[in-house]
Amino acid sequence: MQDYLIRALTTNKEIRALAVRSTALVEEARKSHNTSPVATAALGRALSGALLMGSMIKGGDEIKLIFEGDGPLGRIIAEANQHGEVRGYVNNPQPPLQLNMEGKLDVAAAIGHGQLRVVKSKLLKSSYESSVPLVSGEIAEDLTYYYAQSEQTPSAVGLGVLVNKDLSVKAAGGFIIQLLPGAKEETINTLEANLKEISSVSRFVEEGKTPEEILDILLAGFDFRIMERKEVEYKCKCDRERIAVLLSSFDKKEIEEIIEKEGKVEVRCHFCNQIYEFSLADINKLEFD
Ligand SMILES: [Zn+2]
Repeated sequence: MQDYLIRALTTNKEIRALAVRSTALVEEARKSHNTSPVATAALGRALSGALLMGSMIKGGDEIKLIFEGDGPLGRIIAEANQHGEVRGYVNNPQPPLQLNMEGKLDVAAAIGHGQLRVVKSKLLKSSYESSVPLVSGEIAEDLTYYYAQSEQTPSAVGLGVLVNKDLSVKAAGGFIIQLLPGAKEETINTLEANLKEISSVSRFVEEGKTPEEILDILLAGFDFRIMERKEVEYKCKCDRERIAVLLSSFDKKEIEEIIEKEGKVEVRCHFCNQIYEFSLADINKLEFD
């Protein structure tokens, strides 16, 4: 089943709502990074959250979420744009297994305490960054807190990943619901009542519910219109030229020494694990700083 995302607006214009099914792309990230279940859950939530947030920024812009916790996963990065493309990685994809009191994957403990940095980069302008403390490490709650603190937008965020016994991804998805300025008291009350009924968004995806059906549940009692529907995918934008530029910022002597010993220098992309090889002839073509 193809992953996709929808963005909707209630006809009273008081609520914006987005939902995504991301099972296939989280599975692709898992395979690419060989993540353990808790790392799959954490990275999958971050990727799904970045996709949803990336759908609310302007065309050409990008959003980057950096979870800097002191837990065993280390840093988690997820980058998305408005075209439904996302990529990311986790510093330590194979931390020791951690379960919480309910026997579930303990994402919060694996991420730990620290901060969430949100970087919005504009195509030709400088980027804008804000950071908030990690309030829970469960990712969704941290994004909710970010929206309240940094954007003064009351939001409800749900993100979930279910992992099969064979470690593959069973279901992944998420939603963001936001109150728009001027939302009435009764709108808030209805929405809060709806949200109380939600157990887990990954269960909805596992049951085969589409993003449209998830919004039907979240927005029960409201009429809404789907403003946008788009396919989403795991896509890395690395290429040989970009990697070469990165390489040319290093010390040329050191690179030459590596080539002398190994016959080549290898650069691995953090986001997709593709390896780029450079020979001495390649290096001599580069302009070093
Ligand atoms: Zn790459």
